[in-house]
Amino acid sequence: METIKTLKNVPDQHGFFGKFGGQYAPEILKPALDELVEAYSRLRQNQEFHDELYRLNSTYSGRPTPIYFANRLTGHAGGAQIYLKREDLLHGGAHKINNAIGQALIAKYLGKNRLIAETGAGQHGTATAMVGALFGMETVIYMGTKDIERQLPNVKRMKLMGADVVPVNKGSKTLKDAVNEAMRDWVTNVETSHYLIGSVVGPHPFPMIVRDFQSVIGEEIKLEFPEKYGKLPDIVVACVGGGSNAAGTFYPLVDENVDLYGAEAGGIGESAGNNSASLSLGSSGIIHGAYTYMIQNREGHIIPTHSVSAGLDYPGVGPEHAFWKECGRVKYLPVSDEEALETFKLVSKLEGIIPALESAHAISLALKLAKEKSKDTRIVVTLSGRGDKDLDSVLGM
Ligand SMILES: *Cc1c(COP(=O)(O)O)cnc(C)c1O
Repeated sequence: METIKTLKNVPDQHGFFGKFGGQYAPEILKPALDELVEAYSRLRQNQEFHDELYRLNSTYSGRPTPIYFANRLTGHAGGAQIYLKREDLLHGGAHKINNAIGQALIAKYLGKNRLIAETGAGQHGTATAMVGALFGMETVIYMGTKDIERQLPNVKRMKLMGADVVPVNKGSKTLKDAVNEAMRDWVTNVETSHYLIGSVVGPHPFPMIVRDFQSVIGEEIKLEFPEKYGKLPDIVVACVGGGSNAAGTFYPLVDENVDLYGAEAGGIGESAGNNSASLSLGSSGIIHGAYTYMIQNREGHIIPTHSVSAGLDYPGVGPEHAFWKECGRVKYLPVSDEEALETFKLVSKLEGIIPALESAHAISLALKLAKEKSKDTRIVVTLSGRGDKDLDSVLGM
């Protein structure tokens, strides 16, 4: 029998997943990144660190999350059984807390008492504000002034929890300008501050660190599912924005006999600018410190993306996903705005669960797959978050 080579041994010491990833960052960030690489390789072996993370995950965030058999959704599809991994039940309403808690704990072990983050839609900023309060750390969130106007409820939540929301009134006044300001702050204040990146993106070691903290999702599936149903699911699906909930869902399963699917934001069409499907519709290039897939024009400039869901509206994607795509381990497919909106309403009606618009992309893809499969096939979908935040944008349409 042919031995299966592991896909788990990545990244290498330079941060590469095959040819993807790396550390294409300005020279001035190098000392901060080196310190983090070194600190994390120590903390990874530290039992006390893992125990504390486990305790916070179970008592603060609400882990483990259940795996729910979606009976009526399954009946509607008329094929494979559909199960939902309920990350929407976590504190804050999404998987983002898994990463925020882990990185705040790194900051604590490094003796840093200040967290820096940037946020676009405000979901990651909110998760960072939560853990800032939890650990009693000074928290600074950079946010474009345009995004502040669009996401006022999240801005209020962040401030209530004690975070300092710094408006960025430069360039496009959105996420990418906020990233620049956050980086500048980190370089200036690296002795006291940790830069808490919100997805499996950026220069090494961030894609690895965020994947590891989100892997609690896939580890629980790997443990809970065979306990209840005798074996692993046949198919697992997750949505891909930056790619953190998907990476955390897939990574523990990459060496197993499970088909893996990523749902990307297909937006309103396949031409550049109409979607945010970096893997299925983009091309390779360097963005935010890593070589990966992205949405760019012929000159290699990032093109503004589109998605009905703010959390998927990002022109890049984590480098490990680029690696999985190239080795054929994970299939990535676009799901349109319209399909996601339809699924958002369908799941609400049939299950009494309002999914985040991001997660609705994954469920939509799962429904398509389920229709083609037999009734004894089992599909697990990661329900990355709840959709209360999306009511205005869906019902206003
Ligand atoms: C932020 C967010 C996403 C997208 O981020 P990933 O890093 O791709 O997981 C997906 N779902 C929800 C609910 C989110 O808040």
